Amino acid sequence: MPHVQPAGGASKPTVVIIGTGWAGACLVRTLDAAHCNIVVLSQRNHMLFTPLLPQTCTGTLEFRSICEPVTRIQPALASLPNAFYRTMVFDVDFDLRSIGCISVGVLGAGKNVPVKSFDYRYDYLVLAHGARPNTFNIPGVEEHAFFLREISEARGIRRRLVQNIMQARLPTTESEEQLRLLHIVVVGGGPTGVEFAADLADFLTQDIPKIAPALQAKFHVTLVEANEVLGTFDVTLRNYCAKRLNKIGIEVKKAVVAEVLEDSVVLTSGEVLRCGLVVWSTGVGASPLNRSLKCDKNPQGRLCIDDHLHVLRDGKPLDRVWAIGDCAADVKQPLPTLAAVASRQGKYMASTLNGLLASPPSPSAPFKYVHLGSMASLGGTVALAEFKAPATFDIKGFRAFLIWRSAYFTMLGSIRSRLYVAVNWIGSWLFGRDVTYIAEISEAKLWARLASDGATKETARRRLVAQAQKNRVVMPPPEASVTAVPPSFSNDASLQK
Ligand SMILES: Cc1cc2nc3c(=O)[nH]c(=O)nc-3n(C[C@H](O)[C@H](O)[C@H](O)COP(=O)(O)OP(=O)(O)OC[C@H]3O[C@@H](n4cnc5c(N)ncnc54)[C@H](O)[C@@H]3O)c2cc1C
Repeated sequence: MPHVQPAGGASKPTVVIIGTGWAGACLVRTLDAAHCNIVVLSQRNHMLFTPLLPQTCTGTLEFRSICEPVTRIQPALASLPNAFYRTMVFDVDFDLRSIGCISVGVLGAGKNVPVKSFDYRYDYLVLAHGARPNTFNIPGVEEHAFFLREISEARGIRRRLVQNIMQARLPTTESEEQLRLLHIVVVGGGPTGVEFAADLADFLTQDIPKIAPALQAKFHVTLVEANEVLGTFDVTLRNYCAKRLNKIGIEVKKAVVAEVLEDSVVLTSGEVLRCGLVVWSTGVGASPLNRSLKCDKNPQGRLCIDDHLHVLRDGKPLDRVWAIGDCAADVKQPLPTLAAVASRQGKYMASTLNGLLASPPSPSAPFKYVHLGSMASLGGTVALAEFKAPATFDIKGFRAFLIWRSAYFTMLGSIRSRLYVAVNWIGSWLFGRDVTYIAEISEAKLWARLASDGATKETARRRLVAQAQKNRVVMPPPEASVTAVPPSFSNDASLQK
């Protein structure tokens, strides 16, 4: 495996950041490139504004509006010796200060896509690679449910939603199949699941009457939650949420999922929910990288860190290695997996490194987190907000909606994102949500091939029928049967679901 020596030589130390999520982006934004070479390794070249991700699934917002390229967040990354590399980190040797990376060549450009590995050396390392959805090892979740953490997953949900509507409208689709296609099951009653279900309810009441009124009565949204919906909020807000979900037509089921199948969700009670789309939003678990790192981990698989965010190995801080965001948790006081925590840890880490690399170096105080509160939108112009500091109080309804919208609008990282989001919100309000269906090229090719095969078979059948009528012989079967068995035609996992 080749070793890549950071460009820029020994003149400045190299700080490597793994991940471009909330934690990595907030760190890289204010890290001072005058004192170090900054190298970012991540599977994606942008930061994603996750609180608004559910709104992209129904076309309220466009995907790119909530993404910020990392070179725009830290312009120094555009020129060497600073760099961004799109790669998957699979291991870190903390003794050799070496990071194991895998890169994949250009997909779709040829048959043999090169997959290459390399090692990258660091002087200082910050792990900010987040977490993955928790499936609780329930069979069928990985294969048949959609997660809602990445843009590619939100795109998969939006495509499936529109495909189901188009399929349900075909004259060949029977009523029972229409009901299945238009039943959406959301698993997980946390803020993300609730916000997604509420935005879906808006789509069904505001847009379906314009684009497919005959189908409106057949739509159904079920929210499955094993405990309390919005369980981290106080009881008044939980009751308010329950009433609101009921009012906007979302069925809440207190149940546990036993299995997810291609066309249904099976509950431990034995009940089978036949559906056309399953969205899985039940919290996070350890990422593959967390599993391979040789350092201390807590029972949830998060990396153990101390109050200065140093990664611990055998209970002792590793030299020059920190971890921030969802991938890590303080051994004494684990914090929730929230953007609010990740972003503040990112800012703290930037000021720690800026102080450490300045001359003379200045030490940092321990990281402290004060939880200001939580919010959730409940569809239409309704939201709820629970404030914890500086004072404890709740707000619900339209006022909370205004706070929710303006808080997230101001938190968007750039004027560009604010402009795009504002235009999308106004556009969806004026013209309705965008249900344009744009297939991936691999999907479009498969669709065209299956349709063309079907047309050939049907033409042959009709010719035989005509011939049979002429000769008065036995008729062939009434319909051509084309079975679509998608080969591994796409590089986009969501397409194969
Ligand atoms: C739909 C949704 C809505 C949310 N809403 C809110 C909200 O309203 N308020 C709130 O406080 N929190 C919210 N959260 C939670 C919040 O988004 C997370 O806590 C936050 O994203 C964590 O930031 P992070 O940087 O640790 O990880 P992430 O944002 O997940 O970023 C991880 C980064 O690491 C990269 N990466 C992962 N593995 C590797 C690897 N092996 N090699 C290289 N790169 C890798 C990824 O590509 C990504 O760039 C929401 C989450 C979701 C999914």
